[in-house]
Amino acid sequence: MKIGNVAPMSSELPFQLKSTVPSRGDASGLLHHPGEAVLIERGRPRWLLLMCPCGCGEEIPINLDRQAGPAWRLYRSHRHGISLYPSVWRDTGCEAHFIVWRSRILLFGGRHARLRSLGRREEIAGLASQVYPLLPARDFVSYVSIADTMGEVPWDVLDACRHLVHEGLAIEHAGDEHGRFKRRTITAVGLKGFSRKA
Ligand SMILES: [Zn+2]
Repeated sequence: MKIGNVAPMSSELPFQLKSTVPSRGDASGLLHHPGEAVLIERGRPRWLLLMCPCGCGEEIPINLDRQAGPAWRLYRSHRHGISLYPSVWRDTGCEAHFIVWRSRILLFGGRHARLRSLGRREEIAGLASQVYPLLPARDFVSYVSIADTMGEVPWDVLDACRHLVHEGLAIEHAGDEHGRFKRRTITAVGLKGFSRKA
């Protein structure tokens, strides 16, 4: 997965959770439109069945159960809705590539797509000020491990890291596939700039 700085996102649509059911069989016939989903939960989240956002009409089963193999992480928040990590990239059929973030589906147009920011500017800046002290000065660290440390959604932390890069306070590893960041060496001017904008 590369979420770089090259091409714009191609489209966006709402993620709509239609129902939560105990088994895969109960989910049949519930999905009609792109972006609609059913959560299959039995003791813990097992599967997310999602009508492909590209419009191809296929239902994509997304494993949420680590005990059943490599699994996506589901984040549920009253304020921000549902997020999923990492991105979903179908390797067959339509080959759609997208993320679910704050109950929106951001569909990538090509291999190199930029993550469009969904948070409000003050909110991103607020999170960035919490992320900043966690960035190492020497080695690059993945935004995902920072998100795990903070208990935040990785997409939000990626957004905050990019904000710090934009503000000149962090550096993103060039040519890296997974978004690793480190703190930029701080000068007095940089610190002043940060407190003014934070
Ligand atoms: Zn599709």
